[in-house]
Amino acid sequence: MTKIFLKNAYVLATFDDEGREISDGAVIIRDNVIEAVGPTAQLAPAALDADEVIDLSDHVLMPGMVNTHHHMYQSLTRVIPGGQNAELFDWLRTLYPMWARLTPEMITTSALTAMAELILSGCTTATDHLYIYPNGIRLDDEIQAAQEIGIRFHPTRGSMSMGESSGGLPPDRVVEREPDILKETQRLIETYHDPSPYSMLKIAVAPCSPFSVTQDLMRESASLARSYGVRLHTHLAETVGDVAYSKEKFGLEPAAYAEDVGWVGHDVWHAHCVCLSKGGIDLFARTGTGVAHCPSSNMRLASGIAPVRQMIDAGVKVGLGVDGSASNDSGHLLAEARLALLLQRVKDMPGNPAALTAREALRIATRGGAAALGYTEIGQLTPGMAADMVAFDLNQVGFAGALHDPLAALVFCASAQVNYSLINGRVIVREGHLTTVDLGPVLRLHNHYARQLFRGE
Ligand code: ZN
Repeated sequence: MTKIFLKNAYVLATFDDEGREISDGAVIIRDNVIEAVGPTAQLAPAALDADEVIDLSDHVLMPGMVNTHHHMYQSLTRVIPGGQNAELFDWLRTLYPMWARLTPEMITTSALTAMAELILSGCTTATDHLYIYPNGIRLDDEIQAAQEIGIRFHPTRGSMSMGESSGGLPPDRVVEREPDILKETQRLIETYHDPSPYSMLKIAVAPCSPFSVTQDLMRESASLARSYGVRLHTHLAETVGDVAYSKEKFGLEPAAYAEDVGWVGHDVWHAHCVCLSKGGIDLFARTGTGVAHCPSSNMRLASGIAPVRQMIDAGVKVGLGVDGSASNDSGHLLAEARLALLLQRVKDMPGNPAALTAREALRIATRGGAAALGYTEIGQLTPGMAADMVAFDLNQVGFAGALHDPLAALVFCASAQVNYSLINGRVIVREGHLTTVDLGPVLRLHNHYARQLFRGE
């Protein structure tokens, strides 16, 4: 049994139901669970026998953030010239041929890179949407990376089954047969999915998008997921082109299409939803359907501004996602919270400077993400919750002059990296450095693979 005492935090933001913020805060962790939260002076007597004491003077301590949408392999194809200035469908057509050359080793290395970047930005739980499986790639390749680095992981078995010759967007050579997709998804759930509390690994089912799989696969994926009690994820209503495709092909707007194929409910979360209608928002709120808001990606591809304020007011579960690094091109989750705040303020003209507050943005990044992914034991710092938390050092130039409200400073000021990160009670970042992975060699290999993909080797 291991006991860790985190003490002297300048401010400890619990993100509990009351939104308590504790000055000179402390946390006692026993193994992988939070035992106590409170002022340092109050908790110190109970922590005399701690195995490790971490002094967080001049740090903000908060729950680890939850990334609800990503394509980690895309870290290998950042800033590709042909995709720098393209909208979604053209961007995809530019990148598919490059992604067709991915290998299992590239998946593992890019996942390690993407997870390292996320963790250093304050993320402790992440999903990933891997939907392209050429050259013997399996989801196992990135699960291996998660186990190595120590992130709480909720990967999804993505898929594409409708190539160009069947009216889909991807080239035929990167799509799979639907029976193979379902069989492989079932194997992954049976091999890896751990539904127990404090689980470090859960699997979800995730056909890529309505324009790359059939309605049959959407329906069969839903019934497979529900037979195992796992969650469902896909892209929805990302752009106006996306909506037009849905209306033309299915005679339904995206939210109605999702409902038609069984893709609404407490066990479903959709990425983007930039073009979700008022009816769609109400449907999602009524059914407990979650949304992964990805502001950088939506701006990068000129997709638009998701109606996040309306979603939250209606009661939709909204989390944050960095989205893949080919459309961001950064995997910094705290930066995403900042952009979520800024973007909501200019959604309508005239704008609204109170459309989203700093604390709301951080709440979306923590509890919002936990709710969208269906976790009840992460997203806040209270006794009994998983010991997932991050600390930012306030002694840096970006925070100078903002210490009267350091929690809001995390969002308003330049996006910092964590100085400490604990995931499931394990110190994964100590004094700014990953403890589990030597990042230098990983990045060298990652850049080698990226060069290979770009040059077509
Ligand atoms: Zn995406």
